[in-house]
Amino acid sequence: MNLLSQIESAAAASSLARGAMEFDKSLATVAYVAAAVLFIFSLGGLSHQESARRGNLFGMIGMAIAVLATVFGYMHGGYWLTVAAIVPAAVIGAVLAARVPMTGMPELVAMLHSFVGLAAVLVGFSSYIDDATHAMAGQRLVHLLEVYLGVFIGAVTFTGSIVAFLKLRGSISGKPLLLPARHVLNAIMLLVCVGLGIWFCSAESVASGIMPLGVMTIIASLVGIHIVVAIGGADMPVVVSMLNSYSGWAAAAAGFMLKNHLLIVTGALVGSSGAILSYIMCAAMNRSFISVILGGFGTSGGNSSRQVDGTIKEFTIDETVDLLLEAKSIVIVPGYGMAVAQAQHALADVVKLLREKGKEVRFAIHPVAGRLPGHMNVLLAEANVPYDIVLEMDEINDDLPNTDVVLVIGANDIVNPAAEEDPDSPIAGMPVIQVWKAKTVIVMKRGMATGYAGVDNPLFYKDNTRMLFGDAKASVDGILARLRERLGS
Ligand code: NDP
Repeated sequence: MNLLSQIESAAAASSLARGAMEFDKSLATVAYVAAAVLFIFSLGGLSHQESARRGNLFGMIGMAIAVLATVFGYMHGGYWLTVAAIVPAAVIGAVLAARVPMTGMPELVAMLHSFVGLAAVLVGFSSYIDDATHAMAGQRLVHLLEVYLGVFIGAVTFTGSIVAFLKLRGSISGKPLLLPARHVLNAIMLLVCVGLGIWFCSAESVASGIMPLGVMTIIASLVGIHIVVAIGGADMPVVVSMLNSYSGWAAAAAGFMLKNHLLIVTGALVGSSGAILSYIMCAAMNRSFISVILGGFGTSGGNSSRQVDGTIKEFTIDETVDLLLEAKSIVIVPGYGMAVAQAQHALADVVKLLREKGKEVRFAIHPVAGRLPGHMNVLLAEANVPYDIVLEMDEINDDLPNTDVVLVIGANDIVNPAAEEDPDSPIAGMPVIQVWKAKTVIVMKRGMATGYAGVDNPLFYKDNTRMLFGDAKASVDGILARLRERLGS
C-alpha cells in the first residue's frame, strides 16, 4: 500500500469514527430529551399520593437513561474510571437509603443537597483550571461568569445544607442564632463577593484568577452557614425545601459549565419546583418568603418569655376508650412522635374498629407535621388509611368546634395555641390545628417535653385537655386491645 492510499484509508477511518461519534451524540441527545420528559412526568406524579410511586419510577428510569446516555454518548474511553466511581457510590447510596428510618429522611435529603453543592464547586474549579475553556476567546466572559456563579451557589448550598443536616439531627440547637448586625454582615459579604467577581473576570491567567475564586468560595461558605443558623426551628421545613431549590440551581450552573443540556434542564426543574414548594410552605406557615430565604430578614426571631403554667389532667387508656366509644365525631392529629413510635399501623386498626361502630373518624394533617413535607401522608398511606378521611388543616379547622374528641398523637408545635395567642412566641402567626376548640382533646406523648421549635405549649393546661402519657405505639396498642375487648372483635 503506498503512502497516499494509507493516508486515504486513515482519513476514511477517522471520518467513520467521527461519524460514529456524531451518531452517538445524536442518540444521546434523543435520550436526553426522553429523560427530561420522564423527569417532568416524575414531578407531576409526585404531586399526588396515588401517583407518587409511578412518579418515582419515572424519575428512576429517566435517571438511568441519563447516566447511560452520558457514558455512551459523550464519553470516549475512561469507562473503567466511571464504573469505579459509580458502583461504590450506588452501593453506599442504596444501603444508606434502605437503612434510614422515615424520621431520618430530612437529614438524608439535607446531606444529599450538600453533595450537589459540593459537586458544583468542584466542577467550577476544574472547569476554570481546564485551560481549553480559556481558549474560547469570544465566550470567555460568559464562561467565567458561569464558573463564578456556579461556585457561589454551590458553596452556599454546601455549607447551608450541612448546618441544616446538623440542626435536623439535633447535633446543634434548632433555635435561631442571631448575630448582632447580621443583615449588615450578609450585605458586606455579598458586596465583597461582587468585588472579587470583578477581579476574577478581569484576571489575565488562571494563576491570577484562582485567588479571588478561592476567597469568594470561603466567603460564600460562611454566607451559607450564617443564613441557615439564623433560621428558627419551626421554619426549618422551608429551609430544607429552599436548599433543595438552591441545589437545583447549583446543578443547572454545573450544566452550563459542562455544556450539558440535561443537567441544565434537570437543575432548572429541581430549582423551580423547590422554589415553588418553599413559597407554598411559607404561605402555609404565614411566613414571608423573602424573609426566610434571607435568613430571617426582618424578624426578631421571637423571644417570648411568657410562662406557661397551670395543672394538667392525666387520663388512662380505659378513660380514653370510654370517651372514644361515647363520641360521634373523632379527629386524629398525628405528629412527629407518631412517626418515631411507628404507631400508624395500630392506629389504622383503631380507626377501622371505630368506623365499623359508625363513628365519623378523620385525620387532620398540618403542612409541616413531622420532619418532612408530606411525612404524615406517607405514613398513613403506608398503613392503608383511606385517602378520603385524611384532610388538610384548612379543610378541618372549621369543623373542630363540632368535634367530640380530638386525639393528638405525638404532635406538639402544630397544635400550639401560642401561635395565635402570644404575639412574642417564636411560632407566632404560624397557622395551627385549633384542637382546643373541640369538646375534649386527648394528647398522647411521653412527657412534657417541647416540640421541634422548643416552645412551651399552653394546650396541655386547658380545661378540656387530658394527657395520656406514654410511648405513642404502646398507648395506641393499649387502646386497640381495650377496644377489641369492649367490642368483642
Ligand atoms: P413536634 O416536634 O412539635 O413534637 C413532637 C412531640 O412528639 C414531642 O413534643 C415529643 O414529646 C413527642 N414524642 C416524641 N417521641 C414520641 C413517642 N415515641 N411517643 C409519643 N410521643 C413522642 O412535632 P409536630 O409534628 O407537632 O411539629 C413538627 C415540627 O417540626 C414543627 O416545628 C416543624 O416546623 C418542624 N419541622 C418540620 C419539617 C417538615 O418538613 N415537616 C422539617 C423540619 C422541622 P415527648 O418527648 O414528651 O414525648
